Amino acid sequence: MSAGKPRSDPSSIRCAMRSLTASIQRHIAWIATGGTIAGAGTGTVYAAGTYDAETLLARLGLVPPLPLRPSEPYRIDSKDATPAHWRQLRDALQMALAAPDCAGAVISHGTDTLEETAAVLALTLPAPVPVVLTGAMHPADDPHADGPANLVAAFDLIARNALPAGVWLAFAGRVFAALGVRKVHTTALAAFADPTLDGEKAKILSAMAPPLLPFPDPWPEVALLPCTAWDDPNTLSAARARGAAAAVLLAPGNGSLPDVWHKAIRDAVHAGLCVVRASRCGWGAVTPHPLDEALGTVPAGKLSAAQARVAAAIVIAATNDPSRRRTLWQHVLS
Ligand code: ASP
Repeated sequence: MSAGKPRSDPSSIRCAMRSLTASIQRHIAWIATGGTIAGAGTGTVYAAGTYDAETLLARLGLVPPLPLRPSEPYRIDSKDATPAHWRQLRDALQMALAAPDCAGAVISHGTDTLEETAAVLALTLPAPVPVVLTGAMHPADDPHADGPANLVAAFDLIARNALPAGVWLAFAGRVFAALGVRKVHTTALAAFADPTLDGEKAKILSAMAPPLLPFPDPWPEVALLPCTAWDDPNTLSAARARGAAAAVLLAPGNGSLPDVWHKAIRDAVHAGLCVVRASRCGWGAVTPHPLDEALGTVPAGKLSAAQARVAAAIVIAATNDPSRRRTLWQHVLS
C-alpha cells in the first residue's frame, strides 16, 4: 500500500504539516523512542537517539503546531531494545490511546529492531485507532535525512483517517501491516518489506486482527539457533538447560530441518519446548511440512525469525497448554 510520495525537502514538509494541521480535529499521540530518525551526525557516522521529541519537532518547523501530543518513554538506539523497553512503550501507548480525542499514535523508532516492536504491539496492544511505526535510515542532521518525510507521512495517514485500527509500519512511502514486515536492507532508504504479502492485499488481511494476548511477565527466554547440518544440535539441549522455553531454528530454505537435528528436536518438544521452524532466506513464508507432525515443530509462516521469536515468547507465556498454544500460533500466522 502506498503512503504517497515521500516529500523530503524542508519547505514541502512544512507545507504538508500546515495542511495536516488544518485537516485534523482530534490530536495525534507521538511517542518518540530515539533511533536514527533522532540521530546526530551524517552518513553512517552518527549517534542514534540523540535528539528529543521537542528538538525534532522544532527541526520540522511546525508553525502553527499540528495537534500533536509528544511523549518519550525512553530514547535509545533500537539495537539496545529489551522486553523492558517494549513494556514501557506499550504502557505509554495505552495511556495515550485512552484519551477520548486521540485519532491515533505515531511511534518514531530505530529501524534495527522495528520489526520486533511491531510484533509485540500487534500481539499485545489494544489499539482502537491506528498506531503507525516509522523511523529513518539517515540521521536527522544528514542533508538527505528521510526521517522528516517518514514522520509526516505517518502523521498524514492518521490525519486522513487512511488506515483501520491496528498496528502499522509506514516507511519510504509504503505502509505495511505489523506482522510479516521485516527490515530487508542494511542501508537503502526503502529498508522494509513484507516478503509474503504486499500492497492492498496486506491491507485487507490485516483487518483480520491477530489475537490480543497478555504482555509476558516475566518475558520467557526464546533461543534463536542457526540450524544447518554443520550446526551442532546440542545447542538445542544447551538452550533448554539454560532455561529457554522455546527455540526458533534459523534453518535453510523453507525451514528445512537437517536429519542430524531430528532427534534433538523431538526430545526438546517432548520436554515441553516450543520449537519454531524459521528460514534464513530473506523472502517468502515458511509453509507447513509433514515433519511438523512427526517432530512437533511449528512453521514460522509469514514471520521473520525476529518476529517469530517475539511471537513465541508471547504465545508460550499466554498458556501452558500445548494444544492451546498451537491454536494461538495458527491465529498469529493467519
Ligand atoms: N541502530 C539504529 C537504531 O535501530 C538504526 C536506525 O534507526 O536506522 O536505532
